[in-house]
Amino acid sequence: MKTVLITGASRGIGAGCALAFARDGYHVGVNHRSSADGAESIARQCREFGREAEVFAADVSDSTAARAMVDSFVDRFGRIDVLVNNAGGALRMPAGGFVEMPVDYWDSQIALNLSAAAYCAQAAARSMVAQGIEGAIINISSIHGDVTWVRRKALPYSAAKGGLNMMTKSLAVELIAHGINVNGIAPGLIHTKALDRYSERDLNGFNRKIPFGGGGTPADIAELAVFLADKSKSRFIVGQTITVDGGQSIDGSIDSMLDDSF
Ligand code: NAP
Repeated sequence: MKTVLITGASRGIGAGCALAFARDGYHVGVNHRSSADGAESIARQCREFGREAEVFAADVSDSTAARAMVDSFVDRFGRIDVLVNNAGGALRMPAGGFVEMPVDYWDSQIALNLSAAAYCAQAAARSMVAQGIEGAIINISSIHGDVTWVRRKALPYSAAKGGLNMMTKSLAVELIAHGINVNGIAPGLIHTKALDRYSERDLNGFNRKIPFGGGGTPADIAELAVFLADKSKSRFIVGQTITVDGGQSIDGSIDSMLDDSF
């Protein structure tokens, strides 16, 4: 039986990944930081597919907590086949922009959206290499790792996701020698709780500007994650960050999306 650990899986894209991997036959580790009820509910739904599922509370932006979580997962399930680095999110740049930016804001956004993936990937890769497991690591990035976001209001987030894309490439080159495949997914607008910050007017505006006709769902990302984890289908895809965005990033309209609420 295969195992997967998904960070930030109490809701949204991470929860969608947990359910898709459970349906595909994986035992699942559901990580969260503070949403214990959501994580328990997702673990319960994974068990309904007949898999084992366990909740792992840890703030993955803390290196010690992230490593301890991966180690607990391996203790519980005996092995880690797939890690999905999904936990992340953008906080709006405080007033004053980059020039006035508090260093704590920069540090916390880089820690959550870049360093956390490195901490978890290192611990998972150590375990995979030690056990000779030819596993997979999948990093959930963003289209904003490549293009700026609404007048640069999420500058450190974009910088972190751009760094994550480069980490995906570099780590892939190192780990493919051990048979471990590293890839990323760059979602565009996906309907999750993270969008609660937007007004209905802005959301309608975003949806109208996406060539597909609206944003995606967590399942749109999760299906690709399951595919990337399946070496029998994806073994020759190495170090890529694949965009899944309904055409949002190829239309040149992202940075002009009307955005008063963020
Ligand atoms: P979401 O609905 O806000 O869910 C975020 C998840 O991450 C929650 O389970 C949250 O759990 C967890 N989390 C946050 N900080 C954490 C930490 N320090 N340690 C452990 N878990 C933590 O977000 P989402 O929209 O699904 O986004 C998931 C990923 O996709 C993120 O990396 C995001 O940047 C990326 N993405 C999303 C979109 C989009 O439109 N939604 C677009 C592009 C990229 P707790 O509540 O317990 O903290």
